[in-house]
Amino acid sequence: MNKIPFNKPFLTGKEAHYLYQAVYSGKISGNGIFTKKCQHFFEEKYGFRKTLLTTSCTDALEMASILINIQAEDEVIMPSYTFVSTSNAFVLRGAKIIFADSNKDNPNIDADQIESLITDKTKAIVVVHYAGIACDMDKIMALADKYNLFVIEDAAQAIDSYYKGKPLGSIGHLAAFSFHETKNIISGEGGLLAINDEQFVERAEIIWEKGTNRSAFFRGEVDKYGWVDIGSSFLPSEIVAAFLYAQLENLSSIQAKRKSIWNTYQEHLSPLEEKGLIRLPYIPDYATNNAHMFYIVCKSLESRSALIQFLRNKGIHAVFHYLSLHQSPYYKNKHDHRSLSYCEMYADCLVRLPFFYDLSLENQKEIIGFIFEFFKE
Ligand SMILES: *Cc1c(COP(=O)(O)O)cnc(C)c1O
Repeated sequence: MNKIPFNKPFLTGKEAHYLYQAVYSGKISGNGIFTKKCQHFFEEKYGFRKTLLTTSCTDALEMASILINIQAEDEVIMPSYTFVSTSNAFVLRGAKIIFADSNKDNPNIDADQIESLITDKTKAIVVVHYAGIACDMDKIMALADKYNLFVIEDAAQAIDSYYKGKPLGSIGHLAAFSFHETKNIISGEGGLLAINDEQFVERAEIIWEKGTNRSAFFRGEVDKYGWVDIGSSFLPSEIVAAFLYAQLENLSSIQAKRKSIWNTYQEHLSPLEEKGLIRLPYIPDYATNNAHMFYIVCKSLESRSALIQFLRNKGIHAVFHYLSLHQSPYYKNKHDHRSLSYCEMYADCLVRLPFFYDLSLENQKEIIGFIFEFFKE
């Protein structure tokens, strides 16, 4: 039997064509025609005030951290159940991370717990829309208003998903998306910073261009450019942008296909949920599903490890993640000892099933069959 990988990058077929155009256009550094086409796409489709392509979501988060002026000792509240980049971006600038627990029903940050974590040092709340499912943004934005905090959306997994009709990434002051090859829309490595708060627009472009006002210079707004702020090389080359543009042109067909794969898992696995053997993804009424991933929640670490091994023996690559950041080697001594029980439960019990555009129905049914076989034993 063929092995079924966890992920397989999907190519629309147009990538090589646009790469060729970019390479032979005579300009392959950043902020060229394809970069502008991609940024325009996001601003038009989702109404973000301003967007900047970055070399990764990690970089977009680092830009956000610089933009809100994180200083040593500032506190930033975020879920512990997330990828390291969510917290690294703020730790790099000296912030102390205050980790919050996940919801009981899904791995997103428990919005009802945040207020008790706010102190006079709190500067920002970073939310992660896990699996592309929205956090409870009305509650979070109300807290931000009340305590004068910034909200940054780690929307790495959340392209083309909505909260009460609003696109994810358009609600917080700033948001970061990823186009890593494991995401819905890809460019190998790549990301996007969405800037919704007008006060950050001008400075974001400077930070993006190594701390210079080069973008304004190219637009003829200043007659020479120089070093005006801190910054780094956050912008990707046109080669990356050209690849991404081919994907964006096919966003709706990619999303439709992924949703049908997601629905197949959901329909066929629901009897196991009804029997109480596993839990399936929970999507609140206020959220949409962008079919970023399909996960199941087992009843224990032992059961999860056995399931992953069982599938591996059948040639199927299912994976777990994340290890709780508050228990990580780097942060465990800096965390304030609160136990975060739902986060720890997801870290122990969640399994991600193979999920990619080219996953055939036949392969999917094999995977589902083996999961039933496992739970029969
Ligand atoms: C993928 C991911 C990132 C990192 O994205 P990169 O583009 O690889 O830097 C950050 N946060 C979350 C929640 C992710 O899923």
